[in-house]
Amino acid sequence: MSESFLKCFRCGKEYTINRKKYRCDSCNGILEVRHKLGETWFDPGISGVWRYKKIIHPSVPDEFIISRGEGSTHHYTHRKVSEWTGVDNISMKHEGENPTGSFKDRGMTLAVSEALRLGVRATICASTGNTSASAASYSSIAGIDSYVLIPKKNVSRAKLAQAIAYGAKIISVSGDFDSAMSQLEAIIEKNHEYYLLNSLNPWRIEGQKTIAFEIIEKNPDVDFISLPAGNLGNTTAIGKGLMELKEMGVIDKVPRIVSVQAEGASPFYNLWSGKTENLVPVRANTIASAIRIGNPVNWEKALKSIRSTNGIVMAVSDSEIMEAKRVIDSAGIGCEPASAASVAGIRKLVDEGLIDRTDSVVSIITGHILKDIDSISAMDSDIELSSFLSSSGLEIPLSVAHRP
Ligand SMILES: *Cc1c(COP(=O)(O)O)cnc(C)c1O
Ligand SMILES: [Zn+2]
Repeated sequence: MSESFLKCFRCGKEYTINRKKYRCDSCNGILEVRHKLGETWFDPGISGVWRYKKIIHPSVPDEFIISRGEGSTHHYTHRKVSEWTGVDNISMKHEGENPTGSFKDRGMTLAVSEALRLGVRATICASTGNTSASAASYSSIAGIDSYVLIPKKNVSRAKLAQAIAYGAKIISVSGDFDSAMSQLEAIIEKNHEYYLLNSLNPWRIEGQKTIAFEIIEKNPDVDFISLPAGNLGNTTAIGKGLMELKEMGVIDKVPRIVSVQAEGASPFYNLWSGKTENLVPVRANTIASAIRIGNPVNWEKALKSIRSTNGIVMAVSDSEIMEAKRVIDSAGIGCEPASAASVAGIRKLVDEGLIDRTDSVVSIITGHILKDIDSISAMDSDIELSSFLSSSGLEIPLSVAHRP
């Protein structure tokens, strides 16, 4: 007997959880996981994602759970970030601390445990990099083959290296992420033995909800939660998690989600701000490769998350993203470019008068600084030893300075 079921997000048709297909047979809508919510929502004796087993996957037997201790990430505050954004009480929740360096691990521990439970032959995903790194690691731990479709150009070498090293089979696809994603959907429509690990997989969303749970446990009065937005899985997940906590009576006040896209990849912003009536895909272009997505698959679910939390969708430029990254990096915290969008968005909302200096804000830092080192132009700040010595009035004994 299972306490959870799958439900079509569009037409409402219900399915048991013993299903590999992630789209509805009747209307092709995407499915979401539903639980019978009870009184308790976490196990105080457990930390990390599985602390919340009761409201993410109550019926999975423990022997199927593939976990690397994901979640329980830290919150950081820093004067530089407060000054730059204009918010005194802003903290950054660092998802780069997860085992493979991004929040994707929270979703992957659920989805790969489910893959194991369903007895699939192989996992597969399309990726801008972090999904493949995470999918490869978790699949290998589970002893399941993994395949990843990666766009030929513009993928960070560090992320690709992870996927290769963790043992995934890399399939390189000409074209961008959106084209890889649609080709992948066409392939698995006919081959359901290949279990999809993109955020179209409803279990990914369940795992990623736990970011919201941890934020609420730490800071139940938070006013705004900001995050970068690409395929919109995480925006969906944070909203779903918050609405479930509200339904259970854990919170009264629901924090507002701030979903931040890069200007060059902002179809969701165009929709939300009324520039377009439907989601109109764009050809994505931004330095922030993790959100370089022009046709986000989860937009319908994400729109519900924004609406039900009275949220805000916005777009920031690449230069705003990189300026935010320099502030976060030089504060000693560090992140990959896409992550910095969540902080850049807050500064912009303060400028626009929508966020107050005294509001409480948590910005989700989605990925680790080492995920994309090509975006850091370190050489610009190099100083020759000789000019350092002369400018700071230091001296070094000649005998040492001339040693070969
Ligand atoms: C995947 C990812 C995103 C985008 O998340 P979506 O759920 O696709 O909107 C943002 N930042 C990083 C570092 C990511 O890996
Ligand atoms: Zn349907």
